[in-house]
Amino acid sequence: MSDESKLQVIIVGSGLAGLTAARILRENHHVTVYERGDAAIATGGQGIIIAPNGVKILESIGYNRDRAGAVPIYGIRTYDKEGNVNKDVDMDLKPRFGADCLAQKRSDFRDELMRLATTPSADLGIKGNPAEIVFNNAVVGLDPEEGVVTLSDGSTAAADVVIVSIEDAKKALGDLPLPHWWEPSTCQNQSTKSTTESWHADGDRAKMVEDFGDFHEPLKIILRAATEVKVWELQDLEPLLTWTQGRAMLIGDVAHAMTLMQGQGANMSIEDAESLRLLAPGTRREDVQDILKLAETVRRPRIAQIQAETRKSHSTFGVAERVTRNLEFNCGYNGIHDALKAQQEKAKA
Ligand SMILES: Cc1cc2nc3c(=O)[nH]c(=O)nc-3n(C[C@H](O)[C@H](O)[C@H](O)COP(=O)(O)OP(=O)(O)OC[C@H]3O[C@@H](n4cnc5c(N)ncnc54)[C@H](O)[C@@H]3O)c2cc1C
Repeated sequence: MSDESKLQVIIVGSGLAGLTAARILRENHHVTVYERGDAAIATGGQGIIIAPNGVKILESIGYNRDRAGAVPIYGIRTYDKEGNVNKDVDMDLKPRFGADCLAQKRSDFRDELMRLATTPSADLGIKGNPAEIVFNNAVVGLDPEEGVVTLSDGSTAAADVVIVSIEDAKKALGDLPLPHWWEPSTCQNQSTKSTTESWHADGDRAKMVEDFGDFHEPLKIILRAATEVKVWELQDLEPLLTWTQGRAMLIGDVAHAMTLMQGQGANMSIEDAESLRLLAPGTRREDVQDILKLAETVRRPRIAQIQAETRKSHSTFGVAERVTRNLEFNCGYNGIHDALKAQQEKAKA
């Protein structure tokens, strides 16, 4: 395919959603990612679990679980405070859903996505060119109709498609609700409040050990061994009325932040990014808006359901039930083309 027939794509934010989108789109289009942080930026050092719905997509784009130090999860065992086994949950999901559930360190996960987005194509055995990542240049403004972003260094950049995975640029897509804040001690949805970036907020190790003072000793040994403690605010969003405007589309947490109670947030970011496969080779600039809207017809209802189920699970269910009660719906997803086909068949019936 000639270089002229490729779309120019800007991706805002090099988080999990942005980098997966960069890997999906680089094969057929020119991709530039703008990131406000430096090359070492990583959203936290803790573990992240990717369920079969996300892993199927990752495997289709060359995700190397060994490089990422990922290990499959075959079961979850829960204990009570005294250390007695509560429940054993079977999580050997590959026979049911076609892929394992993988656990890995978040920073290693992001490094692997960065490799897939930026490694020379010949080394990955794919076509197209690597995505260009521009660090230390935040997006401070967006014109979604024209596809123009304004950057913190004062320059502007224009594209046929703008994929947005950051909170700041969301304002350009309309009047959108504030996140809901979940009170951690009760897991009840309290209010909306203004927030600060908290991926890297420091926690107090002594306070954490004290809070878990009446738990059984093996857990306390693990807590006391921690050398670095971070805290997060639990927030989620009401489903948004739209994710697209003009030639811009929201993906990832900015479109549908949810709490970690079902462990589906990053999975949804990966699924969103995969939906950009609809921007097929040869897509014309004038067709972009309709294609983004088409992707949204699949992504928004699916995620609204997952958001609602995640909220339900806050105070109602134990850990085992939270992760297993929606397995069929969550992990049975097989990508945008499959979902569109199912949608069309349903419409015909
Ligand atoms: C404690 C915790 C545990 C979790 N565990 C799981 C789990 O096990 N499984 C799961 O599926 N999900 C999990 N999640 C949810 C998951 O982490 C998120 O859904 C996911 O990180 C969202 O990715 P994102 O790319 O949308 O956002 P991010 O990963 O936050 O990326 C956003 C990026 O945009 C950049 N940026 C911000 N503003 C600008 C700007 N103005 N200009 C340019 N760049 C900018 C940021 O620096 C960052 O790199 C967990 C969340 C938390 C808090």
